[in-house]
Amino acid sequence: MINFNQPHLTGKEAHYMYEAVSTAKLSGNGVFTKRCQAWFERRYGFRKALLTTSGTDALEMCAMLCELKPGDEVIVPSYTFVSTALAFLREGAKVVFADSMQRNPNIDAETLEALITPRTKVIVPVHYAGIACDMNAIMAVAKRHNLLVVEDAAQAIDSYYQSPDSKFPKPLGSIGHMAAFSFHETKNVTAGGEGGLLVVNDERFVRRAEIIWEKGTNRAEFFRGEVNKYGWVDIGSSFLPSEVNAAFLWAQLENIDEIQAKRKKLWNTYYSRLQALAAKGFFTLPDKPDYATNNAHMFYLVLPSLEKRTALIKYLKENGVGAVFHYLSLHSSEYYKARHDGRELPQCDRYADCLVRLPLFYDLKVEEVHHICDLLNTYYQ
Ligand SMILES: *Cc1c(COP(=O)(O)O)cnc(C)c1O
Repeated sequence: MINFNQPHLTGKEAHYMYEAVSTAKLSGNGVFTKRCQAWFERRYGFRKALLTTSGTDALEMCAMLCELKPGDEVIVPSYTFVSTALAFLREGAKVVFADSMQRNPNIDAETLEALITPRTKVIVPVHYAGIACDMNAIMAVAKRHNLLVVEDAAQAIDSYYQSPDSKFPKPLGSIGHMAAFSFHETKNVTAGGEGGLLVVNDERFVRRAEIIWEKGTNRAEFFRGEVNKYGWVDIGSSFLPSEVNAAFLWAQLENIDEIQAKRKKLWNTYYSRLQALAAKGFFTLPDKPDYATNNAHMFYLVLPSLEKRTALIKYLKENGVGAVFHYLSLHSSEYYKARHDGRELPQCDRYADCLVRLPLFYDLKVEEVHHICDLLNTYYQ
């Protein structure tokens, strides 16, 4: 059986976790947390990086930082994980769902303007499969209407946006006012199963982010010696991961280049082996716009119909390959459908019905990718 996903160990995790335990300082914001955060700030130029216990938590912190009032509107793609919408809904916002592009599942920047009302406060682009959204277009709309942009970069570690007007690609997560990453076990790097990162790029939100992170207290400033007592100063919650999780994550970050190289090799093998079947129209391969790089988070196919996708998943399963689909349209979910304004989101529904993900993880062997491609060739003969 080739599983759909398998978490990877670099070999140093247990060592660093033991080191964290032996310092007798296991709670959050210790040595490993600071080391990971500094690494993100240095490598990707994030203004402020704060580890969290999940990507969902990082999104919730973003929503809290946006200071939404009841009735404020937040534009979110419907084709995404629940947390993207839920984080803002919990803060009392009205979620307005946007459709995906035809070429890939990312939010369609051209549909945004029509969704904006005087109550709109935030746009939340999700970089699906680690492929950048059209950030120049999204940031331009946001600027025109004075909106905040929160990047859901949960899948987008080590991926970039190449603006046509700049020589230097920008790391995803560094473009919006803030961003959220996930280190869940299904992502490219994990903090031991669950974990996340809040990124704050806009200086206005830096101080408050740290306070919300530390249960509404100015504890972090106190420990840096910036204030001489600490107390309750704002809302917040407990968003800090334990040092054990940060130590696990550190072992993965140290190996990120190797992890990315292997994932890209597997991804490229799929892509070149499946060209011929795609040319015959059996499915389409992942789209990569000129402005996006590929971080090999995910390899997916888009089939012509739900029936064809169901049949393919069944065939792969019978042949020992775990392929999965995901994201039921949020606008027509059991929880949300009565709240939705009734607009049709056809591209979102198409991806929900027709997209299938193939196994892609560090310890997958190139020969196993060839085996999966051979099975697909047999199936379509
Ligand atoms: C994984 C994911 C999340 C949630 O991250 P968790 O760490 O599981 O809470 C949010 N948004 C997207 C797009 C994701 O893929």
